[in-house]
Amino acid sequence: MGRKKMKVLIIGGVATGPKAAARLRRLNPEAEVTIIEKGKILSYAGCGMPYYVSGDVDDCRSLSATAAGVLRDSVFFRNVKNVKVLDRTLARSIDRKNKTVEMVNVETGESSTLPYDKLVLATGGEPVTLPIKGVGLNNVFRLWQPEDAIAMREVVAAGNPETAVIIGGGLIGFEMAEALTRWGVHVTVVEMMPHILPGLFDEEVAAYLTRYIHSQGVDIMVGSRVTEIFGNDEGNVTKVITAGAEIPSDIVLIAIGVRPNTKLAREAGLGIGKTGGIAVNEYLQTSDPDIYAGGDCVENVHLLTAEKVFVPLGSTANKHGRIIANNIMGYKEKFKGILGTGVVKVFDYNVGKTGLTESQAREASFDVVTTLCPATDNAHYYPTHKAVLLKLIADRKTKKILGLQAVGLGETVKRVDVIATALTFGAAIDDLPALDLGYAPPYSTAVDISAHAANILRNKIEGIAKAITPMEVKDKIDRGEDFIWLDVRTPAEYKKERIEDPRIKLIPLGMLRQRLSELPRDKEIITFCKLSLRGYEAQTILDGEGYGDVKFMDGGLDAWPYGVAGDAAFKPTPEESSIRQRAA
Ligand SMILES: Cc1cc2nc3c(=O)[nH]c(=O)nc-3n(C[C@H](O)[C@H](O)[C@H](O)COP(=O)(O)OP(=O)(O)OC[C@H]3O[C@@H](n4cnc5c(N)ncnc54)[C@H](O)[C@@H]3O)c2cc1C
Repeated sequence: MGRKKMKVLIIGGVATGPKAAARLRRLNPEAEVTIIEKGKILSYAGCGMPYYVSGDVDDCRSLSATAAGVLRDSVFFRNVKNVKVLDRTLARSIDRKNKTVEMVNVETGESSTLPYDKLVLATGGEPVTLPIKGVGLNNVFRLWQPEDAIAMREVVAAGNPETAVIIGGGLIGFEMAEALTRWGVHVTVVEMMPHILPGLFDEEVAAYLTRYIHSQGVDIMVGSRVTEIFGNDEGNVTKVITAGAEIPSDIVLIAIGVRPNTKLAREAGLGIGKTGGIAVNEYLQTSDPDIYAGGDCVENVHLLTAEKVFVPLGSTANKHGRIIANNIMGYKEKFKGILGTGVVKVFDYNVGKTGLTESQAREASFDVVTTLCPATDNAHYYPTHKAVLLKLIADRKTKKILGLQAVGLGETVKRVDVIATALTFGAAIDDLPALDLGYAPPYSTAVDISAHAANILRNKIEGIAKAITPMEVKDKIDRGEDFIWLDVRTPAEYKKERIEDPRIKLIPLGMLRQRLSELPRDKEIITFCKLSLRGYEAQTILDGEGYGDVKFMDGGLDAWPYGVAGDAAFKPTPEESSIRQRAA
């Protein structure tokens, strides 16, 4: 520890690399620290690129500047950090026996070799390519480096594009759908999977978000695979072809994922994990103890399943950089793993997830119990309150929390972070309502909605609340089953928004006890209201009156993704109504 003379070589100069370099320098003023980076722009916030394209960020250089506005270029690293940067330099091979790295300057072609005591691989990932015709046409983009963002903004700012197709309905796809819509471009997002953001959301939460994105003028095609991109004689893109459609398109963005960049590690004989990322131990050491690796080039351990996963995120890359430096300097620190926490702004919706989705939890063989909880993010009487939908997932046997999905205009990210913290410390659902969370009407509700969702789950596990999900109700309808679908809202609410189905019966909650004679005792009854608070109340009333088969519909009308009728109704798009059919 301390002032050991040592040579540390870092390959990769964006997030993990510079983070490790800066920490190393702070811990050891004597170390010789060198970053090798094949690109020209260093230490940039790739996460900010969609906001440069949208116009929220004026100057792309601010993405690689300090908060004080100083550009983090090689001069900055030399003068301020005493870190040498070899930019425009490609590391070509690692000689582990002699502990050297062979590199080439990509501008001059000059080769050289540098020795190391410790080597850090921060080589990141690379965008997954689409092996189809037309990807080389003009105005077909990927958003990977600042140069891509600059080129894309130039095209949209020139004002010519009217239409865009984004291939890939993931985080970057939807950040960019917003960015392009802001320039007046009509966007269609094409997603191969049965619903959008498949890594973050289960079907019903994705459907809720899909409805909102449609309302912002964006078309979404799920379960669709792009087969070809067409261009004109000038080589400019004109349309995108899927199995069932031709979509006019002046620009195309391919955002179909990232794979780890492991070429150097592989060729040097380092261990590669089953996800394809570099295998590292909890100290972020590769199979060679003098070579560390972190960021998008490595695989991580999922804290809930103990499985190896590849989840490339800047949040993790920065943690890795610091921990690698600590370990190199002898301050032993473990990186225990990740929860797959991800948040994203989609127009005005705050969108996020932590832990496992329901389908991931089932795949991992948990005994899953879930709740869909529509709510307002702060006191319903305070003027800034906004709607959110939470889906909380737990294990019925151990009562351990497994995950949260949260979307809406209201503050969801705080709830995602509360649950991420709870998950990190292995909390059970009983722990959530006991948390001493802050409350004042402009910020939350007296029982925070994360705790409220946990209470519903506790009620379900105890058998007090008997629920059925909207998906299960839809399956029953599709199977033609007979049941009473009891809407316990007021007639005024019914007029405004309603499900139109012959099984529906409207009895407002306040009249329920008086009108029991209208409800047969030998039929299944499914109750609901707007959020299903009254729906749950109705279920307990009917239970108390001796009705044998009563459940409430989880999440109520607000979480029903299949379209409603009425004065203030949302109309389901063909994609929404076909989500389930395509999934099947
Ligand atoms: C548009 C966009 C939005 C994003 N938004 C978010 C977000 O909101 N939140 C979030 O957490 N994450 C986000 N990310 C992900 C985040 O940017 C990455 O996880 C992060 O940059 C990874 O850092 P890294 O240092 O591991 O790798 P990278 O950033 O990929 O950097 C690796 C560097 O290594 C260099 N390199 C590779 N091989 C060599 C070699 N042989 N020789 C020399 N140099 C080499 C590459 O040129 C590259 O510059 C986003 C990414 C993109 C593209």
